[in-house]
Formats: sequence, C-alpha cells, structure tokens
Amino acid sequence: MPAKSMDELVSLCKRRGFIFQSGEIYGGVQGLYDYGPLGVELKNNLKAAWWRAMVYDRDDVEGLDAAILTHRLALKYSGHEATFSDPMVDCRACKARWRADHLEGKCLACGSTDLTDPRPFNLMFRTNVGPVDDGASFAYLRPETAQAIFTNFRHVVDATSRRPPFGIAQIGKAFRNEITPRNFIFRVREFEQMELEFFVEPGTDEDWHKFWVDARVAWWRDQGIPEDRLELLYVPADELAHYSKATVDIMYRFPHGLEELEGVANRTDFDLGSHSKGQDELGLTARVETNRDSNTRLAVQDTDSKQWVVPFVIEPSAGVDRGVLAVLNEAYRVEELDNGSSRTVLALPRHLAPIKVAVLPLKRNHDGIVETARRIKQDLQRLGLGRILYEHTGNIGKGYRRHDEVGTPICVTVDFETLEGDQTVTVRDRDSMSQQRVPLADLTRFVRDYFAEQG
Ligand code: ATP
Repeated sequence: MPAKSMDELVSLCKRRGFIFQSGEIYGGVQGLYDYGPLGVELKNNLKAAWWRAMVYDRDDVEGLDAAILTHRLALKYSGHEATFSDPMVDCRACKARWRADHLEGKCLACGSTDLTDPRPFNLMFRTNVGPVDDGASFAYLRPETAQAIFTNFRHVVDATSRRPPFGIAQIGKAFRNEITPRNFIFRVREFEQMELEFFVEPGTDEDWHKFWVDARVAWWRDQGIPEDRLELLYVPADELAHYSKATVDIMYRFPHGLEELEGVANRTDFDLGSHSKGQDELGLTARVETNRDSNTRLAVQDTDSKQWVVPFVIEPSAGVDRGVLAVLNEAYRVEELDNGSSRTVLALPRHLAPIKVAVLPLKRNHDGIVETARRIKQDLQRLGLGRILYEHTGNIGKGYRRHDEVGTPICVTVDFETLEGDQTVTVRDRDSMSQQRVPLADLTRFVRDYFAEQG
C-alpha cells in the first residue's frame, strides 16, 4: 500500500531530512526544493541506477555532461524560443495567474469566472552572460538536457566512431518557469532529467520506439514500481510536441493522480536537421526552420553511397524528481504490528536505500563495543555499496524504528556477545524485522551477498 496522501510523504521527507522547501527561512520560493542528507543519497542512487542501465549495461550508449547555460541559437533553432510555452490566463478578480489547462473555467484561488483569454507564456529562464547587459548577450537556462546532446552530435561521433543505432545519455538540471508549480516535487521550476537520445536509421524508428517504451517500463519495475501502477498514454496527434511524430507517456499513479513520469518520444530527424547546415541536401522528413548559423552537418555518411543520412531519434526522457516521488510513494507503508502498535516503513529496493547498513553499538560508553562497531563500519564502507552509518542511538529498538522509516535495509548491532561470547553480531532485517546472529568473521561477506541480491 503506497502513501495515502501527498501530505504523508511531505511530512516524512521534512522530518527525516529527505526534501526541504528551498529558502524556507525567508518564506520559500514556489517550485524550488532542496534535497537533504537522505534525499541526496536516494536521488544519487536513482541516477546511478539509470546510468548503469543506460550506459554501463549496454555497449551502444555514450555519456555526456554539457553546460546548463545554453547558446541562444541552439534554443532558437530547436523551436523552443517560438513554441516552448504554456497557455496562461489571469483572474481579473484576484490577479492570480494560472495555466489555462489546469483550470475548469474558474479561478482556483477565488472561484471567479472573470478570466482573461489564454495567451502563450514562454517557460524558459533567460540570463545575461558576461559583464555587458546590452540585451543581446544572453543565454538560456536549458529547459531540457536534450539539445546539448544534439549540438554535440558531431563531436561524439568523431570521437567514438559510432554509427546508428547508438545513443548519448545525459543526466542534469533543467529549468522551466512553470506558471503554477505544485504537487510537491512533481512540478517544479528547477529539476533534473535523465535523458537518452538514441539515434537510429530512418525506417527502424518505430521498432526502436517500442523497444524503448518496454525497456523503460522494465527499468521502473526494478526501482520498485510494478507495471500495474503504470499506464501507457499514446499522446493524441493534436497534442504532440512540435518535434514529435509519436510520444508514449509513462504515467504513474502519484498521490495527486495519474500523471506523466517519463515521456518516450520519436523525435524523427527534427533536431539534428534543425541544427544542421546545408539542410537542403539532407532529405529531411521533418519541417525545420532554415538554419544559416550552424557550421556543421549533423548527419552520418553512408560509406558506400557517400549519401548523407540524418538519423532519427528516439528519446526516453525521465524526471529525476518525479522518479524520487514515485519511488518514495511506492515504498511507503504503515504496518500494523501484532502488539497493537504500528510502524512506518520505506520498503525501498536495496540499491536505492539512502543508508545501506546502520551499525549500532549496544552501549555507547563501552570502549570494546564502540571500537568494534566503528571497525565494522569502516570494513563495510570499503565494499563501495553506499553510505554505511555508525550511530550510537542509546535505544536499539528506537534506532530500528527510525531506520525502518528511512528505508535502511539492515541494522547490525554489536553487544557483549560480540566481544566476550560467541563473536557474533545481530543482523536485523527491515522488511521481516527478523534478527539473526552472524559471526563477526562472516559479516563482510554476508553484507556483500545481501546487496548483490535484487530486493
Ligand atoms: P508536463 O506535461 O507534466 O508539464 P512535459 O510533457 O512538459 O511534462 P517533458 O518535456 O516530456 O515533460 O519532460 C520530460 C520529463 O521531465 C517529464 O516526463 C517529467 O518527468 C520531467 N519534467 C518536466 N517538467 C517538469 C517539472 N516542471 N518538474 C519536474 N519534472 C518535470
């Protein structure tokens, strides 16, 4: 059972240090959030899982980490300057502004129906580059990470000798001046995306599109989101983005409703074609703006025919923050216990847990116990699994409950038996709450095997 409401998640996130409102001591800024001590671990683990699946587990994808400030012309020719906007309406009664498609004819603040006609509002943030503010030397904060993948296409191909089918993957920040940010980290103004641009031969694009939709659904399942909590939405033709021939949105049942978690688009030859010089010789299928500024042809040459071919692009584009929210929601549960009490558990997959193992000394002022616990922490930390926490809690039972609530898969308790008895530690499992004694000498292997298993 996932969380009953967004409030439950927001409250857990703040209380335990996953996510805070940004600038809260000054009243906060709408649509901006900061990731705290546990949030940064969870988010990094999710991004690492994506990178493993998209780059390391495959041999046909290369990585990229491009600048966030983006050349103005890149976002002109991509079509974002002209079309990356949402319809905005003003309420004449209370002056509130809304995204027109979020309303049903009434202001959400005051209920008035006295609204202006919708007009386009461009979502890109602009900023000045360099010391002269002459209105011409500006750049945009990128509204998606994808464009830098296209503008670097030639460099990557030259450096790696790749030929389609191959992909370029990137994880990074994106910025959109959303008119009405809302629903916690679901719709924010600064967020992260995990994007793959997968370049394929024209004509094979529809098969690859299907391949990537299936692959992405399987990946979300490995992050703890079963298929029956997702729905595929085949975006109707009249709602497609300007670059898309077909888009499948992977929708998840968030606490506030069924909404997009990831989009998988067939961007055709639109983007590489848009950024290319000499477009007329490229036989493009997409309608693109004439480009007189680019100095490069973003195409591959057929070795036999010497013909230039612009690959089609399949793009799985996932939001990191929406992913974190979905993963948290799916993992959250409140369990009734036999003794009549209840416990909150984050049943996160092991590879996503912010703290992998908590090492708890039974007595905080017993030198032998403390020293052994600290040594265990160091030994386990060297396994490279992620954060291992040494913590003297005073009360072991409370320590277990707290670690249940933040998703720590196992706790290791060091007691007198460890030192003076049979040289074992207690290993306590988050999900079953079972405890077993493991010989100190076997602990490292035990923990390594435990995290090597899926779960
Ligand atoms: P929406 O229709 O919800 O505004 P979109 O269709 O504009 O989203 P895309 O342009 O397809 O979104 O972006 C790809 C992914 O980036 C989305 O699936 C989502 O996970 C994430 N994303 C987009 N906008 C935001 C935002 N404002 N806050 C958080 N994540 C976002």
